Amino acid sequence: MVCFWKWPNKKIKDEEKLVVKIGTSTLTAGTNRVSHAKIEDLARQLLKLRDHYDVVIVSSGAIACARQYVDLSGHTNYADSKQAMAAIGQPKLMKLYDDIFESFGLHVAQCLLTYRDFEDITARENTRNTIAKLLEHKYIPIINENDTVAIEEILLGDNDKLSALVAGIIDADFLIIASDIDGLYDDNPHVNPNAKLITEVRDPAEIKQYVQEKISGLGTGGMTTKIHAAEICRHHQIEMWIVNGTEINFILQALEGKMRFTKFSV
Ligand code: GLU
Repeated sequence: MVCFWKWPNKKIKDEEKLVVKIGTSTLTAGTNRVSHAKIEDLARQLLKLRDHYDVVIVSSGAIACARQYVDLSGHTNYADSKQAMAAIGQPKLMKLYDDIFESFGLHVAQCLLTYRDFEDITARENTRNTIAKLLEHKYIPIINENDTVAIEEILLGDNDKLSALVAGIIDADFLIIASDIDGLYDDNPHVNPNAKLITEVRDPAEIKQYVQEKISGLGTGGMTTKIHAAEICRHHQIEMWIVNGTEINFILQALEGKMRFTKFSV
């Protein structure tokens, strides 16, 4: 089957495996509630993509979902409170995905993983097999960190690293990380109106120091963990894109070259 998206830098082949990472800020669209509209936007895009791409979603949002009902944190922000909130919110998050995606005729499945699952050969093999089987049967895996047993992404990262590990384990063709900004800039765009979007990065190591010093100061935060994700992707020879997930149709727009974003090429 021929891919109809304009994609000059990649070889066109029968099936592409795409991992899309949606963080809490994208999913809540900057509010304190999970945005049904953003999940609908995702579903609409996946409907258009499904003949050409096998898509795996890595989604945060469990804690955000729980916050709509309960607040266990009191005046603290301890990991155990967040873990409990995630445990409450995860089924609610999946219910949202399930209800909305099913209304578009799309089927979802939940996979909860930790970094350690990628270190153990058997766990890696089992994870790879489960995801492959789900994709074979046209179920969209929706992956989150298993926050009951791990707190890495709760503390830092919002699933950036997890999404790169997932991309590596399933031998994905590329990873799209949805951000609340167009990509990586050469300066803080909120402060410097002349800051320029870096559209292509060939080696994350070259800009790592620069990003740590300059970009991590952005209000959006999280660029350092995205660079780490890019390094993992590079290790696996997987292209990674940072795109603005606040835009409607951000995946399709990026694939069709209709929006600017940062590409970490391999
Ligand atoms: N796994 C957490 C969740 O789904 C990540 C929270 C975050 O870092 O925003 O809520």
